[in-house]
Amino acid sequence: MKRSLTGAVAAALLLAGQTFAQTCAVTIDVKDTLGFSARQISVDRRCAEFSLTLRHIGTQPAGSMGHNWVLTRAEDFEGAVQDGQRAGFDNQFVKPGDTRVLAATRVIGGGEQTTISFDPSRLEPGGDYTYFCSFPAHFVQMQGKLLVE
Ligand code: ZN
Repeated sequence: MKRSLTGAVAAALLLAGQTFAQTCAVTIDVKDTLGFSARQISVDRRCAEFSLTLRHIGTQPAGSMGHNWVLTRAEDFEGAVQDGQRAGFDNQFVKPGDTRVLAATRVIGGGEQTTISFDPSRLEPGGDYTYFCSFPAHFVQMQGKLLVE
């Protein structure tokens, strides 16, 4: 969402060293089946930016086996996923302007990857956050927990 900040993040990571880099950026793989490679991730609130890369290592196109990564508070998950599915592919299965959605990637197909970054200080320490794929029906198996450290 904030691609212009990538340079600043890279500079911060260089200054902070490798350990910091590992906790401020996470890559999650998806493929032609329903599931994220990680069912749980941790985010360090001290990161200037947290970077999430979603990588589709399958071969199916986005229209048939597309995936995205959407983050909400756990209590908002159900409403956001229902509205997201209804919003359709043209809206990346996220209701436009949905304030329950804290971060979301676009929908990608096989061979594609996408990266978003957001300010993790917006997240509440110990808060209950859920991430999921909002492609219709995928959320049943494609969801996980985001922990804030
Ligand atoms: Zn999916």
